[in-house]
Amino acid sequence: MKVFPAAFVFLGAMALALSAPVRPLSAHAVPARAAGIREDIPARDKVRYQVWKDEFLSADTGLKEWQTYEHDPRLALTITTSGNNRHGAGIGDYQWDNAGHLVAATITLGSRIDEEYPEPVYYPVMNALKHGELPDVLGHSVLAAAKMAHEFGHLSKMISTDAEVYRVQTELIPSYNAIMRENGRNPRDPRLQDLVRRMGGTPVEIWEDREYWGETNAMLYLGDRITNGALKCSLFSYILKNVDAYAAKAYRNRFAAIADSQAAQSPCPR
Ligand SMILES: [Zn+2]
Repeated sequence: MKVFPAAFVFLGAMALALSAPVRPLSAHAVPARAAGIREDIPARDKVRYQVWKDEFLSADTGLKEWQTYEHDPRLALTITTSGNNRHGAGIGDYQWDNAGHLVAATITLGSRIDEEYPEPVYYPVMNALKHGELPDVLGHSVLAAAKMAHEFGHLSKMISTDAEVYRVQTELIPSYNAIMRENGRNPRDPRLQDLVRRMGGTPVEIWEDREYWGETNAMLYLGDRITNGALKCSLFSYILKNVDAYAAKAYRNRFAAIADSQAAQSPCPR
């Protein structure tokens, strides 16, 4: 993998984000509430949230995803807002049933996700929205809806992730980070190599893989939302520039495939 200095900056936040408790249901437990989407939005955020949600639903990708989770017979998805991490968003509180199906998750949106573009290293799509004419033409609610799409991307990936793999990663990442701190950041430490084998990657690799799945969903949303061909070409070109500059080569295809499928309908000038 590529090592960027920024990766270490993210470690602290990552350890927090990835060490949220995993809660499998016990034999007789039932999900705390019925399946479908429950929106738990404080009065303070209701008006803004509705604008972002309408923006998300105005594109096919957003509408289809929303309808899928709204009618899901098993998964209870909660969407809420919070003043903590007001420009960011996150997903967690995962629960699985005994058969390994994801049955609960909570998406928490910052109360001002319509502000601040994330850094390009792990967020090449949302960051691209800050370039050129895009902020003026698209406005802030599209940025907020792209952040929602990013979280829905995490959710769809988590549904197809083996609960046991996630549990092992969540359990071992803090140990990996603790050994790194104690051994002078030597990744060749056999203890770390054993943890990497069991987790399926280093914490940074696990993190970036997850973030890039979120970002591809944000890209699908934006591809649907932006109907102006020249504007879409401009956005996709900023996205691929970010990917080429910061992402490991293995990830390029995830983004290029979306750009190519859109270009098949309306080619971008070269
Ligand atoms: Zn994310």
